[in-house]
Amino acid sequence: MVNDGSRDLRRAVEILASQLPGPLRPLARLAYNYRWTWARGGAALFQELDPHRWPFSAHNPVRYLDDIAPPRLAALAGDAVLVDRIRDLAGEQDTDFARPPAAIPGLPDASAQHPIVFLCAEFGLHASLPLYAGGLGVLAGDILKEASDRAYPMAGVGLLYGEGSFHQRVDAGGWQHEYWLPVDPERLPMALVTGEDRHPLTVTVPVRDRNVTLQIWRVDVGRTPLYLLDSNRLDNVPADRWITARLYAGDRETRLAQYVVLGLGSIRALRAMGITPALVHLNEGHPAFAALELIGGGVARGLSYPEALAAARERTVFTTHTPVAAGNELYGFHEVRHALDDTPLRLGMTWEQFKELGHCGGGPEGECFGMTQFALRTSGAANAVSRRHGEVAREMWREVFPGRAAAEVPVGHVTNGVHLPTWMHPAMRALLDRHLGAGWEEHTDEPGMWDPVAGIPDEDLWELRTRMRADLVAFVRERSVLNRLGRGNPAAFAEAAARSWNADTLTIGFARRIATYKRLYLLSLDPARALALVQGTYPLQVVLAGRAHPSDEEAKRSVQRLFPLAENPSVPGRAVFLEDYDMDLAQRLVRGCDLWVNLPRPPMEASGTSGMKSALNGGLQLSVLDGWWREAYDGTNGWGIEPPPGLDAAAQDAHDADALFTLLERAVLPLFYERDARGIPHRWLTMVKASLRTAGAGFTASRMVADYMRRAGVR
Ligand SMILES: *Cc1c(COP(=O)(O)O)cnc(C)c1O
Repeated sequence: MVNDGSRDLRRAVEILASQLPGPLRPLARLAYNYRWTWARGGAALFQELDPHRWPFSAHNPVRYLDDIAPPRLAALAGDAVLVDRIRDLAGEQDTDFARPPAAIPGLPDASAQHPIVFLCAEFGLHASLPLYAGGLGVLAGDILKEASDRAYPMAGVGLLYGEGSFHQRVDAGGWQHEYWLPVDPERLPMALVTGEDRHPLTVTVPVRDRNVTLQIWRVDVGRTPLYLLDSNRLDNVPADRWITARLYAGDRETRLAQYVVLGLGSIRALRAMGITPALVHLNEGHPAFAALELIGGGVARGLSYPEALAAARERTVFTTHTPVAAGNELYGFHEVRHALDDTPLRLGMTWEQFKELGHCGGGPEGECFGMTQFALRTSGAANAVSRRHGEVAREMWREVFPGRAAAEVPVGHVTNGVHLPTWMHPAMRALLDRHLGAGWEEHTDEPGMWDPVAGIPDEDLWELRTRMRADLVAFVRERSVLNRLGRGNPAAFAEAAARSWNADTLTIGFARRIATYKRLYLLSLDPARALALVQGTYPLQVVLAGRAHPSDEEAKRSVQRLFPLAENPSVPGRAVFLEDYDMDLAQRLVRGCDLWVNLPRPPMEASGTSGMKSALNGGLQLSVLDGWWREAYDGTNGWGIEPPPGLDAAAQDAHDADALFTLLERAVLPLFYERDARGIPHRWLTMVKASLRTAGAGFTASRMVADYMRRAGVR
């Protein structure tokens, strides 16, 4: 019996469609599938229906269609051109969904009821669904989208956080404050999965000493379903309803409860829906308790514990995403035992066997439990997310594979990539249509496919880049005024960027999750030099953005330290800090910035992905040679900073800050402003073309997912 929520989503579509005039009804089908966010013309279509209402719905088309006034809907229904566009987009979606699933060589029996199951604590699909904190979630979303484009049978499972991820406000003193907004599933493109009896399908998971009941929401991401588990039900006590309230909740006990719910709940929910995983992909250690459920299934089928463990490993792969300690959580064994209650025992294991799987160095013998260690010991294959990260991870995880040299540690790498149709500006896709030939997006990772980029006329590329920058400048002018007024700045300062930002000025972006290893503070290490640069002969403008985790005081202080430089009424320079970095802001920044700066402390940037998004839009990278940039940089496609070996942290910081400013002063600015008689920077554009080819051929989700599929059956 399959109750996979598809019927429930169909019913939701019908209800919405019934509220629309006949010719507009296909909009309901488009609104209930995130595919519109990357389909050509999708975002423009929704935006144009009622440009004034669109922002009020936070770009959520279900709420939007509900909100558009009936007279407006009637007028739209009479617009024949619009009605044709709607019909074409819906028709294209139907054609997409009618394709047969693609074969995966290593998993010959994979199918919709037997898919690759992708488990992750966060998913970033679109700004209107704030269930992500940063790169990990956005990458997970990109993978689901790419699986849909390639017709691979995949299903995602995550958590529905009732208050989502936090939003950021920064006060006039530069201090970050957080607030949470309710995520209302009833008004989002999702539906509660119901059973034959039409009541919500639920599963229970023992957490601490209670059974927690979970319901399941289905979200469609193109052809790929995403299931979100939700404990916010009246039959759970308040503390249990809170488990799925906030992404990466601050307290350890709730976090562990989230991991129990995600790990055990995901496999139980799939079983309840009639779905059996062909392969379980643990994206980061958070969902690793899924192994318990897989092992328990084997024991129930009559296997011994070692056989059941081997069978579970056979079906599980694991991706580790960061060498940073906060991303590889350690708990005391007693905390884990408390969270899991006696689940391992009931699934046929002993506590000793369980301890063995999560055991980590440091702490008294048997007392330290690591989520990553547990994931490594319960999966049959593991990978890091860039070549350099592979080296780092093999060294780092030797403790799990005692007696092996680092090179023999079985952790490979699949370098991250980004979903091109999500991140590339539609006008850039249109330019490439003219030069790369029809259907080029299906072949991005074929060698040679990007060669014609060299032949794009510089004036066309420059005209496009100027237009993309102008869009961003218009946005910054508006948003910076609102952010500053919101902070209580004087009106004259609030409007300073609106006056000084210029569509022809070199635009530099630095936007990322503010974690200490990302070293935002390097920008303010030498304030005099930074000010001299911003006020120097070559004009430049800088846009900064990023959220610090609510409990990361050190990261918050680095934002605060930047404020006297970036947001100081007595120095009305051309720098602005925009609040509440999310996928919408990210998309605008990576499309409009000429230069994208990244300053991680090596080797902490496992991959980094925002730079790939920038490169696909014709932005150039100035980055520390770490993560993806270490394997992408070739001397012709941007700039790299490499600290000499053996420096301590402070010396490394000083070196890298100096290298950053020297490159800006001597290389970046002169090159950007080196123009021919018609104002075109030919040598800059030669670099842009090289960078576009690098990112297009090597760093898209298409190449990444193809790499994962090649590894899928090989364990
Ligand atoms: C791409 C993206 C990230 C990840 O960027 P990094 O380069 O890995 O820091 C984080 N947040 C958002 C909103 C993104 O779109």
